[in-house]
Amino acid sequence: DSEDRVFNFAAGPAILPANVLKKAQAELYNWRGSGMSVMEMSHRGKEFLSIIQKAEADLRALLNIPEDYAVLFLQGGATTQFAMIPLNLCKPDDPVDFVVTGSWGDKAFKESQKFCKPKVIWSGKSEKYTKIPSFDALEQSPDAKYLHICANETIHGVEFKDYPTPKNGILVADMSSNFCSKPVDVSKFGLIYAGAQKNVGPSGVTIVIIKKDLIGNAQETTPVMLDYKIHAENNSLYNTPPCFGIYMCGLVFEDLLAQGGLTEIERKNKKKAELLYSAIDKSNGFYRCPVEKSARSLMNVPFTLEKSDLEAEFIKEAAKEKLVQLKGHRSVGGMRASIYNAMPLAGVEKLVAFMKNFQARHA
Ligand code: PLP
Repeated sequence: DSEDRVFNFAAGPAILPANVLKKAQAELYNWRGSGMSVMEMSHRGKEFLSIIQKAEADLRALLNIPEDYAVLFLQGGATTQFAMIPLNLCKPDDPVDFVVTGSWGDKAFKESQKFCKPKVIWSGKSEKYTKIPSFDALEQSPDAKYLHICANETIHGVEFKDYPTPKNGILVADMSSNFCSKPVDVSKFGLIYAGAQKNVGPSGVTIVIIKKDLIGNAQETTPVMLDYKIHAENNSLYNTPPCFGIYMCGLVFEDLLAQGGLTEIERKNKKKAELLYSAIDKSNGFYRCPVEKSARSLMNVPFTLEKSDLEAEFIKEAAKEKLVQLKGHRSVGGMRASIYNAMPLAGVEKLVAFMKNFQARHA
């Protein structure tokens, strides 16, 4: 019942659109007259094939994905991509560049050290990950196989608004936490990857969009499940895929198209983010967001209280108002409101009203 739902500001797994959940509920027991749930279908049967093909076609329409890119529905989370990318795009001695703007980029860098020779050419760590570098200042390695960025750092709330041009043309981006939140020019990237569980579906599905000419050069010891070629040749059906998760992603893609596509989604996301950031900035320092204004994420909004001893109280009182999961990541503390696509404007309005009320009582 909608009365029992909370406004969930969790960074992930995040909320799904209410109408998508209801549609899935209505189809759960007997999918469109098939006599089966999607969870019970053969992944090689015509029903599931229609589901995965439509999901791919709708995602291609949403992001305007060029023909020379493959779309793969994989498993293992974005974390598996931290290894899969270097295994497929590099030989063990190949140099790779990383711009590290938060903890996820740092994790991707560290994992890739096992499979190639990565170098951090810029890190925001000394400034507590509050910035995006100026692209002119980047000293890229001349032979780097690719340049890796995390397009939106979920923990630190730092988001690329534009993208650096890699020297050799291959830009790789982790878009786990801002995938499908705004239009993206896919042709600027060699590879985009995203765990589904923020904006597009349940955890268990990882989406990879890869330029086809990058496929087919995996290192010799690459496990079959980590070889893009195997998945591309088999249309993501080499082994049993996460069928139900892919179906849910498909329902979300349909919903995003019905809402008017990603330009419209971005407009809604900007409105929500502006409301929240402006409440923080206009609080006379009662609330603070450490991230430089030009790099602030539309998806994850970290903030602190000037009187930090009130933070536990803030989180507890908010939860009583059904504003939940506002605690910041354990590595940075404070608060974090994740306002992914499915967070309605009403949720952000309610949070902002609560913040003003809390301030009035505690200032
Ligand atoms: N990259 C980013 C930007 C994330 O936010 C996360 C998870 O929150 C990950 C990678 C790890 O994703 P997964 O849990 O799907 O492995």
